Amino acid sequence: MERGTETETNGRRSAFRRVVETAFELVYPRTCWICDERIVGAETTGGAGRVGVGGGSSGFRVPLSALVCDECRRAASVPARTFCRRCGRVAVRETARGDDALCRFCLRKTGASNFAFDEVRPMHFYRGTTRALVLQLKRTTDPTLAEIAARLYFESRRRALTAFRPDAVVPVPMNWRRRFLRSVNSPDFLASALARELGVPCWAKTVRRVRATPPQSSVDWAARRENVAGAFALSGGKKDAPIERLKGKRILLVDDAFTSGATANEIAALLKEDGGVEAVCVATLARAGLGKGRRL
Ligand SMILES: [Zn+2]
Ligand SMILES: [Zn+2]
Repeated sequence: MERGTETETNGRRSAFRRVVETAFELVYPRTCWICDERIVGAETTGGAGRVGVGGGSSGFRVPLSALVCDECRRAASVPARTFCRRCGRVAVRETARGDDALCRFCLRKTGASNFAFDEVRPMHFYRGTTRALVLQLKRTTDPTLAEIAARLYFESRRRALTAFRPDAVVPVPMNWRRRFLRSVNSPDFLASALARELGVPCWAKTVRRVRATPPQSSVDWAARRENVAGAFALSGGKKDAPIERLKGKRILLVDDAFTSGATANEIAALLKEDGGVEAVCVATLARAGLGKGRRL
């Protein structure tokens, strides 16, 4: 492309961008996507409004600071070293250096930490802002929030995710009954947004549910494990999801929340045993099930 044409295109693009931004500012209130409070000092100029994430053909990406208020941004994540990298429990402080912290169970190699996945990387505990975010994701009909959640997650877990070197991102499939009730499949949207951040493909149809599982009402590990046993299978035979491509790959498995790890464990075992996957890292927004009386 000639230089003149390029400048002209850029000029047209920025004029277009200004029109779009002005339209956003007129139509939407500039508020935080998580708490609905007004954002002070957003990087985009003027107006009041909840703005979209941007991207697409214009290449314009609204900065996170214009989408989520500083308070929510801080409250949505804790350092990676807070969680045991093997099971997601609270890590022992002495091991909490870098991203390789371990809990007392994994240090002693006891407890139900013998997961089929290799790592789990929660962004926060299932409480406060993160709980609000997960619940909103389950209710919303707008994929924008999943895009924002993925960017928040990537912002706080970039180092651990990059160190894992995933070849592809795979979402945990939703129960069809839940999918029927929801308009947005949050693990799917989170997975594709994370794949974009990491620059790797998202293999959305890799795992499917072969039977509906009752809601995980028990906090008991054995009961939860039994509940999901045999509930999943790898999609095969379809042009868009060949099983062969999994062989020897490193997979980032995405779910919105992680409670006992039974679901992630079942899918990781399937990916490794039937798909020949080399390693699985579980990416999740919230680590639930660590409250009183909720030992795994
Ligand atoms: Zn907020
Ligand atoms: Zn652990």
